[in-house]
Amino acid sequence: MPNYKYGKFFGENQSDTFDQLLPPGTVTPASGIYRCETCGFEAVSTLGHPLPPTVTCPNHDRQWKCNHGLVRWRLVAAAVHVSA
Ligand SMILES: [Zn+2]
Repeated sequence: MPNYKYGKFFGENQSDTFDQLLPPGTVTPASGIYRCETCGFEAVSTLGHPLPPTVTCPNHDRQWKCNHGLVRWRLVAAAVHVSA
């Protein structure tokens, strides 16, 4: 789970972007922190770049699958405002 010290720098956002479950290598729709829905591993990805392949996660094997199931990345914290 992402950590922070000062909540005043964070704001709630109801954008549908936070509901998308994205396969590894998908072009990142928003810069921010992404979480593997299956194992909880977190990664930072930048807008326009591909989300990490599973091989970058210590919990993931070479078959692009999480050891606990399929990798699906979910945006959990956006670095900039994300529109609905
Ligand atoms: Zn995983």
